[in-house]
Amino acid sequence: MNMHIAAKHPSPEMILRPDFAAAIGNTPLIRLRRASESTGCEILGKAEFMNPGGSIKDRTALGLLDDAERRGLVRPGGTLIEGTAGNTGIGLALVGNSRGYRTIIIMPETQSAEKIAAVRMTGAEVRLVPAVPYKDPGHFAHRARALAESMNDQDPGSAWFANQFDNTANRDLHENTTGVEIWEQTRGRVDGFVCASGTGGTLAGVGRALKARKAGVQIGLSDPMGSALAHFINHGELKSEGGSISEGIGSSRITANFEDAPIDRAWSIPDTESVPLVHELLIEEGLCLGGSSGVNVAGAIRLARELGPGHVIVTILCDSGTRYPRKLFNPQLLHEKNIPVPAWLEQAFTEAA
Ligand code: PMP
Repeated sequence: MNMHIAAKHPSPEMILRPDFAAAIGNTPLIRLRRASESTGCEILGKAEFMNPGGSIKDRTALGLLDDAERRGLVRPGGTLIEGTAGNTGIGLALVGNSRGYRTIIIMPETQSAEKIAAVRMTGAEVRLVPAVPYKDPGHFAHRARALAESMNDQDPGSAWFANQFDNTANRDLHENTTGVEIWEQTRGRVDGFVCASGTGGTLAGVGRALKARKAGVQIGLSDPMGSALAHFINHGELKSEGGSISEGIGSSRITANFEDAPIDRAWSIPDTESVPLVHELLIEEGLCLGGSSGVNVAGAIRLARELGPGHVIVTILCDSGTRYPRKLFNPQLLHEKNIPVPAWLEQAFTEAA
């Protein structure tokens, strides 16, 4: 099957984009060779790490901000506020910079040091808070909302809370861009789509876009250990076991974005399955990816095995592994977690020492 569908001579609008926002999206679909060969399917990864802010969350940030601007919820020069595991903060601050807003990001202190530094480097004000469950009023999302409310009490209209988890402009953006792009890039030949859920925006939006065009397309949730979502889909109850070193995915609750996601299947993916895929994709295919991409590819392989050979399955390559060197590429931490360490990685650190 010929999946080489990229234009040889890109049109002028593909070369020149007028600003940061216009450079978001229209990412390539990359064939994942080993996953495809081992399953007899075409497994394709949407290269969201190629967005200008480095992750899928550039899209979300833009979708939320465009919607707020359309509805007059944010005034020129105002402050954008969000609670985020990091990538949305980077995207929001960068889009905000390009449009003359300032940004305050509240994030859990457990996120990778590199990602915290990346948010700071955007010029956004970063407030780190302890990682606590959603029901705790100290959770980063509640703190972000409370901060926006108190700023608006003092100066009405001065702050806008993006609310990526429960603002369904997130899901709608993916339905109208990411999902449509996948449909067009595969020329409608997509049989299945799999990804993890953080806010649920990507999964629900892409799922809805594809189902509207092809009712039989299979939508799968690949959930990291420690998240309650796969158990919820399979057994109707929010329940989790274990944990994961992946960031930005998994949930203990059903968000408004996740709520209407048309999900057919769900798998709980252990780090011992997803992290080796991250290592393999880097050393064998040149793709340097973060942990959520590993969970996604693991889910795509599981769907491929369930559907059998000959199917086209798409997943998301959310961000780059360069955001997690001390987690995903740290032999000592991987040994502690009983995650296999490939010889090349072990050797790289032995030589460096
Ligand atoms: N991967 C990474 C690295 C992320 O930061 C996020 C967003 N939190 C996701 C995946 C999940 O995307 P979504 O919020 O659309 O479910």
